[in-house]
Amino acid sequence: MLLYKNDNLINLLSMYPHIKIVCTIGPSTWDPNVMQQIIKLGMTVARVNGAFADPDELDKVRELVRRFSQDVSLMVDVKGPEIRLNKFPEPIKVKPGDIVKIGSQPEHKIYPYNYPYIYKVLKKGDKIVSGDGDVLFVVNKIDEREGIIYAEVTQGNLLKPGKALNLVGVSHTEEILTKKDIMNLRHGLATGWDMVSASFIQDKKSALEVRKFVGDDMKIIAKIEDKQGVDNIDEILEVVDGLMVARGGLGVSMGLEYVPIVERELIKKANEVGKPVITATQLLESMTDHPYPTRAEINDIETAVLLGTDALMLSGETAGGKFPVKAVKTLVHTANFTVNYLKRKENFEKSSASITTLAIANAVIELSHDMGPELSAVLIVTRSGTTARLIARGNLIQPIYAFTETELARKSLNITKGIRGAYLLENGPQGFRTKRDIAVKFLNELAKTYKIAQVGEKILVVGRTPIDGREFFPNVFEMITVH
Ligand code: PEP
Repeated sequence: MLLYKNDNLINLLSMYPHIKIVCTIGPSTWDPNVMQQIIKLGMTVARVNGAFADPDELDKVRELVRRFSQDVSLMVDVKGPEIRLNKFPEPIKVKPGDIVKIGSQPEHKIYPYNYPYIYKVLKKGDKIVSGDGDVLFVVNKIDEREGIIYAEVTQGNLLKPGKALNLVGVSHTEEILTKKDIMNLRHGLATGWDMVSASFIQDKKSALEVRKFVGDDMKIIAKIEDKQGVDNIDEILEVVDGLMVARGGLGVSMGLEYVPIVERELIKKANEVGKPVITATQLLESMTDHPYPTRAEINDIETAVLLGTDALMLSGETAGGKFPVKAVKTLVHTANFTVNYLKRKENFEKSSASITTLAIANAVIELSHDMGPELSAVLIVTRSGTTARLIARGNLIQPIYAFTETELARKSLNITKGIRGAYLLENGPQGFRTKRDIAVKFLNELAKTYKIAQVGEKILVVGRTPIDGREFFPNVFEMITVH
């Protein structure tokens, strides 16, 4: 097996996730003890699924996370036009051939509570998928007067409460953000949430709708869930801050066989422009009910890492599963193991990012590879985080530490692989923002203060003057021995 020669460095890397971990928070992770453990294990982003959450739940999760960490990023997921079933009391056993009545009112046992009128857009023969493909139906009859869809089960055995309903090939609304999304986003913006994961982003226009709402106060992660999103990925990437490969939605809307290819394409596209990408859904689905993963799941995680994903996301495993801590542990261990195996230098994408930023990033990657374990860390001062992201795509063996201009830029790095620590660049000695020599001395001090390296270790320090000429930091590219 090809692993790096220096075992100490490998051990060091294994202690902290190189690949970032997003956990969906729900009843299984509301226990403070569980929360503390998953943060300790390496969760860098806590996501709340907007399908179920309201501002009270956002507050509850924020307070819980902040009891243990000021560093974990908070991500609110907005559902847009996603249809959800009501939370009927118990999962319902079904079998092919059964007819299920899907109503439109609270007095009906099962009904789509956020889009009750879908019976108006469906017709006999249309296909409906529940959850990530748990149950497939075909519409048998519509009773317009009563507002009831008679749906025949064609596949699956358990219809679960609160699950998404996908009307295959049928459009039921034009809205990108629902009233509930807007309420959650407003609350998120007012209470320090860092990112929004926006469902069903299909083109630049839909991404800009979200941007119009959050401005630059939240990072936008576009969830790509269908063919339109995949087809328009280049224009979407121009205006968002990162991508999520929403494999649940993709599997339902395009067919399961498309998912691995689309995952590969989307990761490549995001890597090329130096924007972070999260691979989501069913990474460890069996650990929702069992304390161990399947071989296929481990294979799936390793593939995503080898393809170049920045982050991996757990959904039901941590929101409602029986073994949330074990699932996070398994994910971190598997991802780290794979990263340590990567032939790092050969594994990064060419990028279309700005040529000067790219020149610096590529030089860092080359140098990191050439020096190997002789170099202990890379310390980069980066206003928005872009240069750090472009460096991270090189899968450096050394940890990357970033100093950013804003808290939001700092938190945005929680979905970029390889970033070991991100801090705000606060005050330094007089002249450090304009004079190179003062800046280098300051970086030496920062390396010690933040325990990035010890005296005697070699680190690479990199800083960028913003192209717009604003005073932030001088140009620096220097190897120093910490003293
Ligand atoms: C997905 O469809 O893969 C996904 C991440 O969706 P949700 O937010 O509903 O889990």
